[in-house]
Amino acid sequence: VQGFDVERIRADFPILKLQVNSKPLVYLDNAASSQMPQQVIDRLVRYQTTQHANINRAVHSLSEIATNAYEQARRKLQHFIHAREEREVIFTSGTTDAINLVMHGYGRKFIGPGDEIILTTMEHHSNIVPWQMLAEEKGATIRVVPINDAGELVIEDYERLFNKRTKFVSVMHVSNALGTINPIKQMIAFAHARGVPVLVDGAQAVPHMPVDVQDLDCDFYAFSGHKLCGPTGIGILYGKAALLERMQPFKGGGDMILSVTFEKTTYNTIPHKFEAGTPPIAAAIGLATAVDYLSTIGMEAIEQHELSLLHHATTQLSRMPGVRIIGTAKSKAAVLSFTVDGVHPHDIGTLLNQDGIAVRTGHHCAQPVMQRYKLPATSRASFAFYNTLSEVDTLVAGIRSVQKVFA
Ligand code: PMP
Repeated sequence: VQGFDVERIRADFPILKLQVNSKPLVYLDNAASSQMPQQVIDRLVRYQTTQHANINRAVHSLSEIATNAYEQARRKLQHFIHAREEREVIFTSGTTDAINLVMHGYGRKFIGPGDEIILTTMEHHSNIVPWQMLAEEKGATIRVVPINDAGELVIEDYERLFNKRTKFVSVMHVSNALGTINPIKQMIAFAHARGVPVLVDGAQAVPHMPVDVQDLDCDFYAFSGHKLCGPTGIGILYGKAALLERMQPFKGGGDMILSVTFEKTTYNTIPHKFEAGTPPIAAAIGLATAVDYLSTIGMEAIEQHELSLLHHATTQLSRMPGVRIIGTAKSKAAVLSFTVDGVHPHDIGTLLNQDGIAVRTGHHCAQPVMQRYKLPATSRASFAFYNTLSEVDTLVAGIRSVQKVFA
């Protein structure tokens, strides 16, 4: 990609200089967690050394500085996903927490016996289990959109699932196990034409492509900071203001109230209604620096570079006898799941690790996907914008030597 200087970018990431098992670290587990540039680390240090105090509750200067930095972080996240208003951005502890917030705040209020919730076969467990808990509590039913052999949603089946009992759709933007990019804009429009709101799990999309929640017109959009070069313990729930206002709070406590007596409590306005207790202040501020950093590089450039890595890896792996790529959708982000004949994924991961290569092996918190392909597990290389073509070559050479060991 023209003008994209990957070596200069890598210099910002101290962890990429590590050696693992006496080999240069090749970090290809970005779908699980990506790494932090020095700029984010520095921001966290500056906050902790000169700005830390609890927010919202004091007139003293430090508290005001921390409160301003926290609310500025909210505005930066708002602009990053192009939300209409800053009060539509709620800080959560991550994608899981954000989805659970919607399940409790929206689902428990508006979904009842006999109602139907549409999910897909490829969902992460965090977008399955909360809805199952709700369905069990309310006597609601979960309907599941199937996937084809390439790992794409069967859209005709999605459309056929709708009926007058359909009350909610929750679908991932990009699959963490297959890399598939789902046609969510089209799916959202279809649901809206039937009056059904849609939550999008964007954990694997926001780090890899420009995301515009107004353009998508989603009702909710969830993602995590730690996959976005930010800290752990922070995530975002975007929600349309009108919906958030109608929802009940998920957690009760300090800061989410306007007044409390033992007779009656009135809740604060959004977003505070959903941010009970002391939030992860430092993590929110660190995440804002991370999105500044990504915006400076440009999400379009990031997307293009990652696609060139995916293309290079896919071309090489498809040529290797005994290697099978799981997830061959036409529209894919930089996730590459694969199996190697005669080798258990766990052994692949262990042997690659001896070469300093970090990949993930297992079910990737998407057991229904593994069941669909009748596999116990896959190995998964997932790329970030700081990965290089030569790291892809190292991965390919690593897989070749695994095959030799098991030949
Ligand atoms: N959804 C998807 C698609 C994911 O990839 C992940 C993380 N693997 C999650 C949800 C859960 O994110 P977190 O653990 O940060 O809550």
